[in-house]
Amino acid sequence: MTDRTRVRRLPERGVYERDAANAILDEALVCHLGFVVDGEPYVIPTLCARCGDVVYVHGSAASRMLRAIIDEPVCLTVTLVDGLVLARSAFHHSANYRSLVVFGRPRLVEEEAEKLRALEAFSEQLVAGRWVDVRPPTTKELRATKVLALPLVEFSVKRRTGPPLDDDADYALDVWAGVVPLRLAAAAPVADPRLRPGIEPPSYATDYLR
Ligand SMILES: Cc1cc2nc3c(=O)[nH]c(=O)nc-3n(C[C@H](O)[C@H](O)[C@H](O)COP(=O)(O)OP(=O)(O)OC[C@H]3O[C@@H](n4cnc5c(N)ncnc54)[C@H](O)[C@@H]3O)c2cc1C
Repeated sequence: MTDRTRVRRLPERGVYERDAANAILDEALVCHLGFVVDGEPYVIPTLCARCGDVVYVHGSAASRMLRAIIDEPVCLTVTLVDGLVLARSAFHHSANYRSLVVFGRPRLVEEEAEKLRALEAFSEQLVAGRWVDVRPPTTKELRATKVLALPLVEFSVKRRTGPPLDDDADYALDVWAGVVPLRLAAAAPVADPRLRPGIEPPSYATDYLR
């Protein structure tokens, strides 16, 4: 923990262990990257993938965000919303969640082998098992893709679980209270209209689970 990663409000919800951070990153599809360019703050949603002790972000080599943040300070966040917490008072409504905040300076991944590993990690993060089924990137496609690595060193995790926490007097109220759990669920896959006939959807598409 550092001074800037110390959770101030409800500090008992703060966790600083790598396993907790890894678990959030491995479940997430999307992170938000915060950075400052010419004094203006930006927070941009993007895909992320963890490999060991780094988080990768990637995109077009022309991306303004990716060019702007190489070796510059960023703040990456991930949020998983686990439930809606319905209290007896409007005031005590809340959410159950797991969230992660990472500070650091992303480095440009230049070595081709690491870049390929990172791209495989992105593919696997989205759909486990997909990478081996698809055409691998060409040299031209690799050149058109920027990959940045943010070390998982300075971070905090915050978690809320459990029922609402109402004021004592409000437990006597005739109002339903509890949690509506939320989860990300996939619907049936929709085939590409240009799919060649006779190709069945793979099980990682028909039975997609996160
Ligand atoms: C889905 C969701 C909904 C939320 N809704 C609200 C809301 O409506 N109102 C509200 O005030 N707060 C909300 N929070 C909590 C919010 O993220 C902050 O934790 C909270 O504002 C307290 O910040 P602070 O002043 O203690 O910390 P700050 O001084 O803002 O932060 C200090 C450090 O603590 C760490 N930190 C703070 N919050 C988090 C976090 N969530 N996850 C990981 N690390 C963290 C960071 O490293 C940060 O640099 C919500 C969080 C989530 C995930």
